[in-house]
Amino acid sequence: MRRRRAAAGRPTAGWRSVKRAVFLDRDGTVIEEVGYLNRLDRVVFFPWSVDAIRVLNDAGLLVVIVTNQAGVARGYFDESLVRETHALIDRRLAAGRARVDAFYYCPHHPQGVVEALRQTCECRKPKPGMIHRAAQDLDIDVPGSFVVGDRWLDIEMGRAAGAQALLVRTGYGQNEERRPEDLVSADYVADNLMDAASWILRRLTPRLRSGCPERGREATEPKGRAHGSGRRQ
Ligand SMILES: [Mg+2]
Ligand SMILES: [Zn+2]
Repeated sequence: MRRRRAAAGRPTAGWRSVKRAVFLDRDGTVIEEVGYLNRLDRVVFFPWSVDAIRVLNDAGLLVVIVTNQAGVARGYFDESLVRETHALIDRRLAAGRARVDAFYYCPHHPQGVVEALRQTCECRKPKPGMIHRAAQDLDIDVPGSFVVGDRWLDIEMGRAAGAQALLVRTGYGQNEERRPEDLVSADYVADNLMDAASWILRRLTPRLRSGCPERGREATEPKGRAHGSGRRQ
């Protein structure tokens, strides 16, 4: 799995900054699903995506994009296009004062034509490898975190990692909702990313929602997890 942005600003004190995150699928969730995204001019944001991500930023949540990009292994486009796409997403978000803290993508596929990427990896959704990697890199409290995506494989990844999982009805979501999976169910089915962000905010404690720096434990959380220093990563 490839990551573009390194974690920074880790605390030096004897306690770890543990943050909650929202893991967002990219295609069909943040931007429109267009099949294999092989040209930058095919990047189209949903009208609410920038606002929804800013709302999550302002709530003190990390926002991490996790996306399968098997088109790389299949030889449809190369990794530089994936990186350019993420740079474009960054610029559009920055123009709206919103931000993605890190991007992870899986370029692999078991039947890929690019030999180096033809593999059964641990990062291709529904496996939770990208979440595990992000959790290590960014000190994320995964059970206190959320996954939002438009396909059951996103939900399955969230379940495998132990996060709460939300299906959105954009992209493939409406069709997915009509074809329920026996062993996978979402904690919430949202109309779109903004609806999902609203639901997530309602699940947070008032203290975390205010973004207040706090060293103690979250009294209202059953597991009593410590949370962050409030410092931006
Ligand atoms: Mg998707
Ligand atoms: Zn992979």
